[in-house]
Amino acid sequence: MKQQKASHKDKATSNIAYVARSVSPRMRTINICSFILALILAALTLMDLHFAISTQTRSNRITEAHHACQQAVDVLQDASDRLTFEARQYVETADLQHLSNYINEMEQDRNRENALQTLRENATNERAIAALEQAGGVSDELAKVELHAMRLVAEAQHNQSLPSSLQGVSLSEDEQGLSTSKKMELANKLVTDEHYMRQKLEIKNQVQESSELLIDTLRADLDQCNTTLDTQLTALRVGVILLLLVLGFVIVSTTIMLLWPMTMYAKSIRDDEALEPMGAQELRYLTAAYNDMYARHHDRAESLSFEAHNDALTGVYNRGAFDKLLSENKGTCALILVDIDNFKVFNDQWGHEMGDAILIEVAATLFASFKSTDHICRIGGDEFSVIMADTHPKLRNVIATRIEKVAAFLRDDSNGLPAATISVGVAFGELGCAEDELFKHADSALYEVKRRGRDGYAFYDEL
Ligand code: GH3
Ligand code: MG
Repeated sequence: MKQQKASHKDKATSNIAYVARSVSPRMRTINICSFILALILAALTLMDLHFAISTQTRSNRITEAHHACQQAVDVLQDASDRLTFEARQYVETADLQHLSNYINEMEQDRNRENALQTLRENATNERAIAALEQAGGVSDELAKVELHAMRLVAEAQHNQSLPSSLQGVSLSEDEQGLSTSKKMELANKLVTDEHYMRQKLEIKNQVQESSELLIDTLRADLDQCNTTLDTQLTALRVGVILLLLVLGFVIVSTTIMLLWPMTMYAKSIRDDEALEPMGAQELRYLTAAYNDMYARHHDRAESLSFEAHNDALTGVYNRGAFDKLLSENKGTCALILVDIDNFKVFNDQWGHEMGDAILIEVAATLFASFKSTDHICRIGGDEFSVIMADTHPKLRNVIATRIEKVAAFLRDDSNGLPAATISVGVAFGELGCAEDELFKHADSALYEVKRRGRDGYAFYDEL
């Protein structure tokens, strides 16, 4: 399971590395485009949110109006029935309490007017408004009939303290001339006859029709509001999703184009390696600049190191490197000291430049004749050495063969350089300890060869 997880991670890592290597857009372009896109999306989403809130508010208002209309229709019907009831009761019983109730309802509570007003305020449908006006008109007429009937009753009862609304109602001369019972009879007829009932029914029908139209209109408005709200909420969701996508794109592109390459760069810098170009173009530019500096620094460090450890004329190790090699390494070795015989003569006879050429030839011959693991050094004017690591006295024949080969090559003047001979002293010993002694032994062997007449080699342990 862990292995599986690790391999998934490796795959994801290599995918990121692949993308980071293969594409190089400008981070600045990505940032500007993402910013503009996010800004546009945020503005559109906020606008949509604003519209959705407005639609929701409108929907709430329509719902409230819907309730108010339904309530108004009930109130209107109740108030109308109550007025009819009180008027009929007063006409039948002449009980002033019913007259007072009627007047209160008409002049103070005004439930009928208020309900009609509520319906008018919420009415947008022309047919509903017309029906309401019709109902209002018939209702006013009905109120006049009721007031007329009650005025007749008040007259029949010789009621002196009439409320102002009854005082305004005038009776015809014929009506005034009627007897009490006839007045009562006429009043009763006015509030119960077929005409009265028809008008009442008409009011009821008109109110019913207008309220149905009104409620239908409100319901249609509400449906439209809900559809609009649905569309706006969908747009809002899409806006938020797109914004999240832009955010995700910014995170992923920043990771691939900047963070991942920077992690890789940090690793390369820690490992003292050149940087691999990857990620955004801006980073690639910095990578190229860094790599250029890195290469120059390395070249310079290498040449400084070469100059510090190598002889300028021949290119082989110098005296400083020779001393280090002897002291800092461990193990058995053979130290070979090579000195050109009568070198001064070459300088004197052919000039210093020819002397230099011979020195270069000796170094090159030694370099070519020994293994790459052996160290060739120039330790003095015409004195060279070869340090053969992991070498013991049993290998003296191999060493002797090599020295003879070098001597034979230098003796050959067919390459245009004068023939030269060399004296060679060899000593076996240990590196890293008592190196002075090893050198002294090799030098003694060399000295012995010089003493014997030059052009030869000697092993210290055979002296
Ligand atoms: P011997 O056989 O006893 O070694 O005799 P020799 O003439 O070689 O004596 P020695 O080793 O003392 O002489 C070394 C000469 O090498 C002295 C110096 O003029 C010469 N020399 C030292 N360095 C250079 C160099 O860089 N170039 C040239 N051309 N000559 C050098
Ligand atoms: Mg010499």
